[in-house]
Amino acid sequence: MPSYDYDLFTIGAGSGGVRASRVASAHGAKVAVAEEYRVGGTCVIRGCVPKKLLVYGAHFAEDLKDARRFGWNVPDCSFDWSVLRDNVLADVDRLEKAYTETLGNHKVEVIRERAVVKGPHEIALASGRTVTAGKILIATGAWPLIPDVPGAEHGITSNEVFHLPELPKRVVIAGGGYIANEFAGIFNEFGSKVTIVNRSDAILRGYDEQIRDRLLQISMIKGIEFRFNAPFEKIEKLEDGSLRIFMQGCDPIEADCLIFATGRRPKSDGIGLEEAGVALNEKGAVVVDEDNRTSVDSIYAVGDVTDRVQLTPVAIREGQAFADTVFGGKPHRVDYGCIPSAVFSHPPLAGVGMTEGQARNKLGSIKVYQSDFRPMKNVLAGRNERSLYKMIVDAASDRVVGLHMIGPDAPEILQAAAVAVKAGLTKQAFDDTVALHPSMAEELVLLK
Ligand code: NDP
Repeated sequence: MPSYDYDLFTIGAGSGGVRASRVASAHGAKVAVAEEYRVGGTCVIRGCVPKKLLVYGAHFAEDLKDARRFGWNVPDCSFDWSVLRDNVLADVDRLEKAYTETLGNHKVEVIRERAVVKGPHEIALASGRTVTAGKILIATGAWPLIPDVPGAEHGITSNEVFHLPELPKRVVIAGGGYIANEFAGIFNEFGSKVTIVNRSDAILRGYDEQIRDRLLQISMIKGIEFRFNAPFEKIEKLEDGSLRIFMQGCDPIEADCLIFATGRRPKSDGIGLEEAGVALNEKGAVVVDEDNRTSVDSIYAVGDVTDRVQLTPVAIREGQAFADTVFGGKPHRVDYGCIPSAVFSHPPLAGVGMTEGQARNKLGSIKVYQSDFRPMKNVLAGRNERSLYKMIVDAASDRVVGLHMIGPDAPEILQAAAVAVKAGLTKQAFDDTVALHPSMAEELVLLK
């Protein structure tokens, strides 16, 4: 048996890489992980975590307004972006430290350098050192994709948004997906003028159409503007530092900040993959089999770099399955069925399983139950904002095949309800469950 410096060398200390490394180490492997930036990856450093904290911060705008209807004497309030930004960034520092400590506690060596694959068992580090490993794991994640338009360099991405020196008065967001709708909600609540510009005529492709329509309608009522079928032509920087954004089919918009939220590309460039014989697909994603193995036997990949499902909990499961299978003698595979997901827009939406459209195409005969209601908190607050819950049921088996909702706390409610959908429960099982009153979630067991 050849001897290597490490049993496992992981490139990228994000959600997937950290989980795989510490579990492999707990299984007895000698593990190192290389990270060129910060331990924690997109989710912890510049994604899910700081974004969710901004969502909380933004929601106070509505809570403070509504509080007056609940008897609170709320004086005129103002928002200080720098306070929230700095507190969020401090929490990110705390989490990075916690992640680094976890790796240390699991005896994983953290190498804070860029690493490049040199062969099936060889890795070159930026310092000039070359190390060897029995297995190499690619967990480098994904990176914002910026459309190729003149002046694109004047825009920023979600990477930079957490560091803005001040709150922009006018924000244009390119794209109509997760990041666009989440940041549109955040900046709108902070008082910025927000315009979403998308190349197509839809937002959040993949989510149930009625739920998407409801978000669009509520967002417009809240003051967010939308420009559809408007691909960018060019972006000009004006003398006062602001931007003029030109699109096809509509007048230019002036803005203080342009955020590109036009998808994320696997981060597979420049790390020696193709040279080492690792196959990539046309989008640059590392091609893997069901056991996360690439076209090179000793090289594996997990998470966004494989472009299967770009979600943190999926990357974590892939990292766990890889480590248990390869180093723990407990082979298992990730089950990609019924993965719940959410968009932390204002209000948030969430879904699991098939949309109505998908179910009609796949199953033919379905039943759709829905509740379109105004949450009691909104009624007293005088907030004319309705929630929508939809349940999609296979008519032949009575099995619930999809649940979709938009409204306050939708992601919290859906996470619990997703257990029932994943378990294959029937509509009857929901009906048999006594309502928990008064709650919004009780709508799920009262659908007629
Ligand atoms: P999305 O894939 O959600 O949306 C991309 C948007 O950009 C779409 O509206 C798409 O238009 C548009 N678009 C794509 N390519 C181009 C292009 N070349 N030029 C102009 N517009 C383009 O990507 P995001 O960047 O919002 O997020 C990336 C991923 O990160 C998500 O897919 C998700 O997996 C993950 N994420 C998850 C979150 C969560 O779980 N809450 C939060 C944030 C991100 P159209 O489709 O209309 O053609």
